Amino acid sequence: MTVESPQESVTDDRNVIFLDIDNTLYSASSKISQAMGERIHAYFLSLGLERNRATELHHKYYTEYGLALRGLVRHHEIDPLDFDKKCDGSLPLENMIKPDPDLRKLLQDIDRSNARVWALTNAYKTHAYRVLQILGVDDLIEGVIYCDYADPKFSCKPEPQFYLDAMSKAGVEDPKRCFFIDDSRNNVAAAVKLGWGRCVHFCEAGLETVEGGKTRQIGADGKDALPEATVIGRLEELRTVWNDVFKKSTDESLTQM
Ligand SMILES: [Mg+2]
Repeated sequence: MTVESPQESVTDDRNVIFLDIDNTLYSASSKISQAMGERIHAYFLSLGLERNRATELHHKYYTEYGLALRGLVRHHEIDPLDFDKKCDGSLPLENMIKPDPDLRKLLQDIDRSNARVWALTNAYKTHAYRVLQILGVDDLIEGVIYCDYADPKFSCKPEPQFYLDAMSKAGVEDPKRCFFIDDSRNNVAAAVKLGWGRCVHFCEAGLETVEGGKTRQIGADGKDALPEATVIGRLEELRTVWNDVFKKSTDESLTQM
C-alpha cells in the first residue's frame, strides 16, 4: 500500500472520503473487469499452468486474497510489475471509458471545508491515475492509495492493514470520519468491521437480479448487498446518503435562512 499526494499528510478535523475506482467510478458495463480477467487468465497460462488449473487458481487467489496478484506473488514468485504491464497496463482504457461530467460535478459539489476526497484502490498507481485522468476527475482527488506492486509485501483490500495505513496516510485518526464506497462486498465489510463511519456498498443499478419475485441488489463482484452498509445503485445517491458533506444548494440555503 502506498500513497501519492500533492501535499504532506497532516491530521486535520475534516472527514475523508475514500473512493474505490474500478467498477465504482465507472460502470461495470464498460467490461473493463472482463478484459482484466482475460489478461490475468492469460498470465496464469503463461506460467505453464493448464487451462482448468489456471481458472481454479485465479478464482482461489481472488477469493482468498482479494487480488489474484497476491497469490501469484506468494506462490509463483512472479514479478508484479511485469504482471501489471501485461494485465492492467495493456487495457485499451481510452476506448472503454470516457470523461464523465456528472461524476466531475458530483465531486465538485463536495464541500471541501468538510471533507477531503481520496481514492482507495487495489490497482497499481499507473492504472489508478490513468482511469482518473480519462474520467476527468484526477484534479479533484487529493491523494491515491494504491497497492504498491513494487513492494513484495504489499497489502490490499480487504486486509485491515490496508485501511489502517490509508487512514494514517490521509491523516485521519477517527474511523468515524472515514467515508467509503466500493462495489466489492468484502471490501465494504472490512471497512465496516474497522468502524469506518459511513460505508456504502455500490450495487450498480442494472446489475440486480430477480429471484422468486424478489429483487437482489448485487455488486460488480456478483455478491449480495451488504446489510451492514448503506446500499446505493447510482453515485448520484451519495448526495442524499452523504448529504452532510455536500455543499448546500442555493435553494436549500435560502430555505434554511
Ligand atoms: Mg471496485
